[in-house]
Amino acid sequence: MSETLENLSSETRQFPPPEALAADANVKADAYEAANADRLAFWAEQADRLTWAKKWDQVLDWSNPPFAKWFIGGELNIAYNCVDRHVEAGQGEKVAIHWEGEPGDTRTITYAELLTLVSQAANTLTDLGITAGDRVAIYMPMIPEAAVAMLACARVGATHSVVFGGFSVDALSTRIKDADAKLVITADGGYRRGKPSALKPTVDEAVAQCPSIENVLVVRRTGQDVAWTDKDKWWHETVEQASPEHKAQPFDSEHPLFILYTSGTTGKPKGILHTTGGYLTQASYTQWAVFDLKPETDVYWCTADIGWVTGHSYIVYGPLSNGATQVMYEGTPDTPGRDRFWQIVDKYKVSILYTAPTLIRTMMKWGDDIPAGYDLSSLRILGSVGEPINPEAWMWYRENIGRERTPIVDTWWQTETGSMMISPLPGVTATKPGSAMTPLPGISADVVDDTAQSVPNGGGGFLVLRDPWPSMLRTIWGDDKRFIDTYWSRFGAGAESSSAGASSDWIYFAGDGAKKDEDGALWLLGRVDDVMLISGHNISTTEVESALVSHPSVAESAVVGATDPTTGQAIVAFVIPRGNVDTEGEAGEKLNVDLRNHVAKTLGPIAKPRQIMLVPELPKTRSGKIMRRLLKDVAENRSLGDVTTLQDSAVMDLISKGMGGSK
Ligand code: ATP
Ligand code: MG
Repeated sequence: MSETLENLSSETRQFPPPEALAADANVKADAYEAANADRLAFWAEQADRLTWAKKWDQVLDWSNPPFAKWFIGGELNIAYNCVDRHVEAGQGEKVAIHWEGEPGDTRTITYAELLTLVSQAANTLTDLGITAGDRVAIYMPMIPEAAVAMLACARVGATHSVVFGGFSVDALSTRIKDADAKLVITADGGYRRGKPSALKPTVDEAVAQCPSIENVLVVRRTGQDVAWTDKDKWWHETVEQASPEHKAQPFDSEHPLFILYTSGTTGKPKGILHTTGGYLTQASYTQWAVFDLKPETDVYWCTADIGWVTGHSYIVYGPLSNGATQVMYEGTPDTPGRDRFWQIVDKYKVSILYTAPTLIRTMMKWGDDIPAGYDLSSLRILGSVGEPINPEAWMWYRENIGRERTPIVDTWWQTETGSMMISPLPGVTATKPGSAMTPLPGISADVVDDTAQSVPNGGGGFLVLRDPWPSMLRTIWGDDKRFIDTYWSRFGAGAESSSAGASSDWIYFAGDGAKKDEDGALWLLGRVDDVMLISGHNISTTEVESALVSHPSVAESAVVGATDPTTGQAIVAFVIPRGNVDTEGEAGEKLNVDLRNHVAKTLGPIAKPRQIMLVPELPKTRSGKIMRRLLKDVAENRSLGDVTTLQDSAVMDLISKGMGGSK
């Protein structure tokens, strides 16, 4: 991307917060004022929401940028903050987790029971020789033991590295090796799509290549046959037999909490390192502020997997540090039927739902009548994360799930940011469909041009973060240079061309494009690597995709800029039609012409796709994000780049074949 991003779309719909919700909201407009007046004092106040064994002496140390330290001198135990303190406060009988297995089995775990489990697991980790600073790989299905394992690591100061339980031997072993882990915590398998899906064989193969692993702790979930080695220990023969007494010892605020690899949407995943005090402060505050969480009455459900950062911050650390009651679901949204999510919302009276655009678009594709059959009146806040949400998907979510009552919080953040950064506040912000709106209190996000100048309202460019924030990544594990090169070298003091050097001049480059609308609201426009250069104009993939999704025949789309002899690049769009749309023969050809014209009419002729491919599926990461770089490889007839994080490789074969046929 050379200059700034074109701003092609405009949105006039706006939804103020419901009055009753606004009146009773945890966070009101004055939070922004307080944070603007004194950012560090604001974060210090949020850190006070946690229980510290030793109070910090200094809020932020930014004397060695871009290596930040937060709450210096402070000591705390994360598991104590997520579990013990609620029990000590008389909340032991309160439900922490309503767990729903895919086959329909359930477990209800109170905070007191969670304390027992975490304490037992912590004792077992110690018995297995795990001490503070050791790394532990966690490769688990979505069962309560996954959260218990993470909390037990945090409790003894071990650094966990959760690897999504669908990744291959290769993905698992490279992550184990990169972190030099000593222990793997896993299960025999988990239920997915109506049947047991084995995990242990993948671990066996990976461990065979990883001499650093001394022990493998195995939860019995499915009861399927497993091979057994001397390193293997059953969870029920160790953890469940261990003493339930464990005293949590405090750790330094900057003690490493976890390593987590990014989703791999743009290339080889990066091992992001997060630490203790700052991370928990921001995860905990944003959980409470952005979801207006009322721990006494809300039932919260985040549909992410714990293998992603969303599962770390908003299934484990955010909700539990706030003493929330939450739902945790093991399986897929269409097992046994496509109504599973709405059944769960209805059954547990979920009041806050946090999910991803990919799921919302899938639900759109499946049809409005499915959620219409359920009582969703318990819902009061809806959240979205993971990708830009197309305005029409946002409206669908609002109308069909929120029943036009509930605010939607579109939360922008990354594995690297650790917790939410840009989002509406449900009791304050008048939201616009498709916009993440404004930086949260205490966060300074901006959109800049290629010389790091802030773009005016109405302009587009690069999303950056100007000031350090508590839950920021501390480095890329074992690779400080890649940390600096990836995030700090494009703009500001870290850039080679820069003559500045003051610590305040360091600017974090998020890798995403964004624009400011006429009111200054922020719109995320996808990865800057994906931006298309069409006849000298920088056009974002998001705007063209959203224009396509606004056509009633389209459920989902991905666009890429492919090399073109006349325009430099030309737009090639991959489109998934909605379920009921006829795409055969002439109907398909007509739809193709209609869609191209629809984009030209919505955004202007410059954005008209050269070619539209109707496809049954799109290539996505395991976390459900569209991998445009692979589509670009196809559109430009190249062999595919890194596919290790691809969900389903058959999709690429289908698309490549279709592409060949249409040329
Ligand atoms: P990699 O960095 O390996 O390519 P990734 O960026 O997909 O993987 P994550 O950290 O899981 O890994 O995703 C963060 C990215 O997701 C953001 O940089 C942004 O592109 C996108 N994203 C997340 N939430 C939103 C949102 N609300 N609106 C727009 N984009 C979002
Ligand atoms: Mg990324």
